[in-house]
Amino acid sequence: NKLSGQPESYCRKSRYTFGRTLGVGAFGTVRCGKDTITGEEVAIKIILKKSLKGKEQMVIDELRMLQELHHPHIVGFRDWFESKDKFYIVTQLATGGEMFDRIIQQGKFTEHDASLVIVQILEALEYLHDQDIVHRDIKPENVLYLTPDDDSEIVLADFGIAKKLHSPDEKLTHAAGSPGYAAPEVIMGLGHGKPCDIWSLGVVAYTVLCGYSPFRSENATDFIAEVKHNNAVIFHADYWKDVSKDARRFIIKALQFNPDERPTATELLNDPWLVSIAKDHKEKD
Ligand code: ADP
Ligand code: MG
Repeated sequence: NKLSGQPESYCRKSRYTFGRTLGVGAFGTVRCGKDTITGEEVAIKIILKKSLKGKEQMVIDELRMLQELHHPHIVGFRDWFESKDKFYIVTQLATGGEMFDRIIQQGKFTEHDASLVIVQILEALEYLHDQDIVHRDIKPENVLYLTPDDDSEIVLADFGIAKKLHSPDEKLTHAAGSPGYAAPEVIMGLGHGKPCDIWSLGVVAYTVLCGYSPFRSENATDFIAEVKHNNAVIFHADYWKDVSKDARRFIIKALQFNPDERPTATELLNDPWLVSIAKDHKEKD
């Protein structure tokens, strides 16, 4: 079960040239690079061992997991190596930027554009959940466009806090995720599993359809009160009047307060909202 790389990994760095910085995360930077053997442009995530404070196993887990994932909407793993003070993870390069930046640029998406991204994220989640893997950090910063084109396909990135469950119903307890996107059961520390990804996807869907976040609270206590009170979400008439009922129903299902009542990724892929948009579009072609 040994990972490829060591000990010759110390010299593998020279295989790659390093270019501009693509993003900065919690544990280091991600840079553009080029594989001088294959000529492929790649992304290289550079993680400072010092920043891991002894939790190097986390990076090993991320690598093991990524290495085994093969899906058109999950960022492709290419290679890894390490130096005395850094880990390097090489993946497929997504040149189209984060979904986050496209939301900032466009304000909001049309229902059709939103549905295209949501379907691709759901396909990635269906694939992960079938293998009992929970991503735990679904948000627009971790959804990347493969090309700069408007209709570019997306890949899901950042398996930094993803977990493989020992059984389909295992409950994880360690806090995870990002404020604004994490599900209430994650915030409350009640134990969470696959349904927490569905909640986060619901937040993403809401955000792209209206251009703002569904929740106003700035801390955990207020957030729990807010979602309990609203079970779970408000559609402000001014911003939602032109959005279809099916889209709103889709969001309500994904943002069920009780994780056991949330639909699975497979069920959402068959939701009337996504199915009818796909059908309408086909008829127009
Ligand atoms: P972190 O755990 O620090 O958030 P990520 O894996 O999410 O690390 O990477 C941080 C940022 O770097 C991403 O949000 C994205 O902007 C950029 N990035 C990561 N991987 C790629 C990639 N394969 N192609 C292009 N940009 C990437
Ligand atoms: Mg990230």
